[in-house]
Amino acid sequence: MQLSKAAELCYEITNSYLQIHQESQIIASTQEAIRLTRKYLLNEIFVRWSPLNGEISFSYNGGKDCQVLLLLYLSCLWEYFFIKAQNSQFDFEFQSFPMQRLPTVFIDQEETFPTLENFVLETSERYCLSLYESQRQSETAVNMADAFREFIKIYPDTAAIVIGIRHTDPYGETLEPIQRTDSNWPDFMRLQPLLHWDLTNIWSFLLYSNEPICGLYGKGFTSVGGVNNSLPNPYLKKDSSDIPLRFEWEISHAFGSNAAGEHDSIVNTSPISVVDKERFSEYQDDYYPGWYLIDDAVERAGRIKN
Ligand code: FAD
Ligand code: MG
Ligand code: MG
Repeated sequence: MQLSKAAELCYEITNSYLQIHQESQIIASTQEAIRLTRKYLLNEIFVRWSPLNGEISFSYNGGKDCQVLLLLYLSCLWEYFFIKAQNSQFDFEFQSFPMQRLPTVFIDQEETFPTLENFVLETSERYCLSLYESQRQSETAVNMADAFREFIKIYPDTAAIVIGIRHTDPYGETLEPIQRTDSNWPDFMRLQPLLHWDLTNIWSFLLYSNEPICGLYGKGFTSVGGVNNSLPNPYLKKDSSDIPLRFEWEISHAFGSNAAGEHDSIVNTSPISVVDKERFSEYQDDYYPGWYLIDDAVERAGRIKN
């Protein structure tokens, strides 16, 4: 896919979600959340930094949150280009999308699941990302600030980086949508237009989008870190009590399903790598998928503190 096509697809997904009329508190609040993110991107961010010339990079690790933000970012990029093209003296059909790939940065912090690595690479192609992947020098976890210092050296035009962090993340409570990095970090602006999203918003939009999501979520993960510190979420363990699925409507009416609303109701998860299959063999089907968890407070319950 070309970047312009990917951006247009994301625009259509987003518009389609915004037009849903359903008696659903989750969908209504997610539509509100999308509107606010769009306002940050179109009215506050793209007016200060051009999304078309390398001033903005996108921090991406294949997780659900930055994928949601990527869909919205591309959607706004399409709109930004469309509006510019319409206001131009030339006919829209003669305007070509001015960017081939989206500048993106992935910090290889610690030993990651091959399933996630593969997903990052697959989606880099799908969304036309120009992916900078930092090199891990040692077995010990990489310091993120140092990794970004290196990135800025290589891409000195970077003025701002988009981050899919939310208020419910550790230390996320007091963050702001646009803010400078802290003093012990390399100097650039942090763009955080997803802060107000909660888990239900993330899953509602992502499942409706029908876009492929990282296969680990299908195995009960709700937060993915390194292989040595991430397990399926214990709150999703299948035991006597059933956990209800809150996103049945989104899954069965997902974007691209036919007019009758018929859809195979299968969530589009990326394949589990052979190595991870082996790793998960003891608890293969013991967990509900990650999208059964809607309590932000226990999103990281599968993470092992070391
Ligand atoms: P996650 O949900 O895993 O990540 C939240 C978001 O961070 C992701 O959606 C993604 O956009 C980005 N991200 C996380 N891991 C990676 C990765 N390996 N590669 C690329 N992107 C990733 N902390 C400070 O205290 N002060 C700062 O000034 C500061 N500046 C930052 C600037 C950038 C560009 C980034 C990406 C992070 C910065 N952080 C800073 C750290 C940030 O606040 C989070 O702690 C960090 O992103 C890890 O998030 P998480 O694992 O808790 O949540
Ligand atoms: Mg997250
Ligand atoms: Mg993380």
